[in-house]
Amino acid sequence: MAEEAIINNSSVQDQWGQICSQLKTEVGDTAFDSWLKPLTLGSFNDGVMNICVPTRFMRNWVITHYSERIHKIWEKKNPEIKSVNFVVQAVNDEAKGLYSPTCRSLLKKITSTPTPTNIYQSGASALTSNANEVFANADPLSVPLNPQYTFDNFVVGKTNEFAYAAARKVAESRNVSFNPLFLYSGVGLGKTHLMHAIAWHIKQQDPSRNIVYLSAEKFMYKFVRALRYKDTTAFKEQFRSVDVLMVDDVQFMGGKDTTQEEFFYTFNSLIEEGRQIIISADKSPADLEGIETRLKSRLGCGLVADIHPTDFDLRMGILQNKAKQLGVEVPEKVCEFLAQKITSNIRELEGALRRVIAHSQLLSGKEITLDMTQDVLKDMLRSYDRRTTIDEIQKKVAEHFNISVKEMQSSRRARTVARPRQIAMYLAKQLTSRSLPEIGRKFDRDHTTVMHAVRKVEELVLEDKSLAEDVEALRRILEA
Ligand code: ADP
Ligand code: MG
Repeated sequence: MAEEAIINNSSVQDQWGQICSQLKTEVGDTAFDSWLKPLTLGSFNDGVMNICVPTRFMRNWVITHYSERIHKIWEKKNPEIKSVNFVVQAVNDEAKGLYSPTCRSLLKKITSTPTPTNIYQSGASALTSNANEVFANADPLSVPLNPQYTFDNFVVGKTNEFAYAAARKVAESRNVSFNPLFLYSGVGLGKTHLMHAIAWHIKQQDPSRNIVYLSAEKFMYKFVRALRYKDTTAFKEQFRSVDVLMVDDVQFMGGKDTTQEEFFYTFNSLIEEGRQIIISADKSPADLEGIETRLKSRLGCGLVADIHPTDFDLRMGILQNKAKQLGVEVPEKVCEFLAQKITSNIRELEGALRRVIAHSQLLSGKEITLDMTQDVLKDMLRSYDRRTTIDEIQKKVAEHFNISVKEMQSSRRARTVARPRQIAMYLAKQLTSRSLPEIGRKFDRDHTTVMHAVRKVEELVLEDKSLAEDVEALRRILEA
């Protein structure tokens, strides 16, 4: 070819090197390492420059996001180049040096996996077991599903019927219907149960479908680890053959910008390829805190379904269902009592029922009565009745340490303010059923700060007697 004669290889290589450094400054190290560094130069024919990309997944991404830019820069440097073409070329020896040895061998194995494999069935999964071989101590991408969390075991009532219908629809459709399905509610109201139920249903219908269920925390953990080992390409590859991706509790991504960005990429690529995504959170997409606007709007662009706090009828239904499942006779009166008293969430309701049943079984089948139930749950119900609020805790702790609630919520880090703040966070975790992010919000902090405070106080009460006494005194006041 004439062009090939004009442009000798080494000058093209040089130009490519310059383009790469320019792109690196433009897009930043993380994006560059993830998406552009793995590209290699291919052949040049008739004004068309071929660039090799290791996978189809990456190719789509690079085309959508960088091809125009690459073309523009190159055209300027070398007018002979009329267009840039991206071709998928599995990693081979030519690409040596672009990948770490582990990543290279993982990619080789993945690209030679003939059919989609099921990541969930970790034993049977070629992808997962390969990943395990490669990443020391790596765990499978998906976490195991709870066998109890099926549609059959899900009691439907007014407060959750919409979310249930949406979940069923997604589970039953062969074609992607709502994408993503976004489920939200307070804690213990059935989000995780519904997600697992969808997964079980799909697996039953078609075992070859590759379903990945994981928590947002796990996603972050895995991504951060991939960054540390500079193996983000391998990380992305794990999502390549996913048909259904479920990410639970995405509120925990709040404030984690790099992870969010990565999640956003993964999310978009999968949606573009027509894969189903299901997300849960403790709030609606618009109300999520610390989540980028573009991600929020992406999360809300499918079907958003919320689960409301339970009503009496649903609580009754759940208790009766659970008792039947466990094969235990529980009198109607007992169920009514529990359904009236324990209104916070289904997890606590189940916990109470289990306690009553366990008690009866320990006393070799002692009959379950209302009296016995009240007796067994005395402590629980007392603290339940008196359940204190975060506002109350802030007020009492501030009073105790002679500071104002405003100071407690401020950003001041002086120990005289910071310590009481940590104690208030710790007590909020202990005495209320609020989640870490909910507690954090009351202090204008994120959930990691609360987590840190809880651990700190747990340590301090062991070492510092006077602090332990303060905490105990406050607990008594708040529980009185
Ligand atoms: P979330 O993820 O919203 O915090 P979970 O899905 O973990 O809540 O539900 C908490 C507990 O309540 C689980 O044991 C779950 O099986 C049970 N549960 C929730 N909703 C229902 C329901 N409608 N019917 C039966 N059990 C339910
Ligand atoms: Mg959950």
